[in-house]
Amino acid sequence: MKNNINALKQPLVLIVDDTIENLQVLGSILKAENYKVAVATGGNQAIAIANEINPDLVLLDVMMPDVNGFETCKNLKSIPTTKEIPVIFLTAKVENDDIIKGFKMGAVDYITKPFNSYELKARVKTHVELKISRDLLKEKNELLEKLSTKDGLTGLYNYRYSTDALARLIEENSRYGQPLSIAMFDIDDFKKINDSYGHLFGDGVLVKIASMIENSLRKTDIAGRYGGEEFIILYAHTALEGAVESTKRIIENTQKLKWNDKSLKITMSAGVCQRKDEDISALIRKADSLLYAAKKKGKNTAEF
Ligand code: GH3
Ligand code: MG
Ligand code: MG
Repeated sequence: MKNNINALKQPLVLIVDDTIENLQVLGSILKAENYKVAVATGGNQAIAIANEINPDLVLLDVMMPDVNGFETCKNLKSIPTTKEIPVIFLTAKVENDDIIKGFKMGAVDYITKPFNSYELKARVKTHVELKISRDLLKEKNELLEKLSTKDGLTGLYNYRYSTDALARLIEENSRYGQPLSIAMFDIDDFKKINDSYGHLFGDGVLVKIASMIENSLRKTDIAGRYGGEEFIILYAHTALEGAVESTKRIIENTQKLKWNDKSLKITMSAGVCQRKDEDISALIRKADSLLYAAKKKGKNTAEF
């Protein structure tokens, strides 16, 4: 009966041995257990293949003519793309010193030849399952991290992340004195857009504007969705002049966006300021009141 090791995918094992016969025996044992199998006949080849196929486990012989198994394991463990792959030594070297050396090189297990195939299968299964659980956990953590920092609709940073980041930048600004500027943006007449074209279209507008904002900024700038149709941009290490220039460019880029209805023009207004000694709420209030002034001036403009 086939062993259902993982319902999600068929695990992939790389077997490394310079004796073809060993590769064949091990390969057929593992294939019968529903593993996918890849083979390498030497240390350098093993590293190249591991890099290419990203196996869930490496079964590694020690005595090989080119690079021996210990060296191969050490190399695998030193390369970022392969270091998480569990390695099990499968070797005729049975001395305690060898076994200790194997573990020191980063192996998770050590099986001596001649091996008992039940033991081999059990150990492979354990380590493959552990590896797959670790991968899933890592994926889930990354997703959680993303969900907790990013806005679900636009992919920009969310309110919490943006304000936390601003608090950190304010502290850095107080301590080291490098300039800090922020801009608060608000889409003009967004309620009318929703009313005329529907809420779904409005959502699409938010997504498109957010992506334009991201593409208009430098890597060190932080863009967040501050509220419904409001965006905040944190310009670290940037004085007012630079922030104003960037803000104006974003306002211009907004006007240039194309919509299905060619007669539709969507614009944004912004308030930009550089921090003097304000705390976070005073700084945001300052940007907000400049934004309000831009709206009063007739919208589609930045006040600073
Ligand atoms: P102003 O030019 O003064 O900013 O006017 P406005 O209509 O843009 O501002 P107002 O604050 O009156 O309306 C904002 C609108 O944004 C109302 C709200 O329904 C809409 N909105 C907020 N969040 C979302 C969202 O996630 N999706 C969509 N489609 N609309 C949203
Ligand atoms: Mg608005
Ligand atoms: Mg608003």
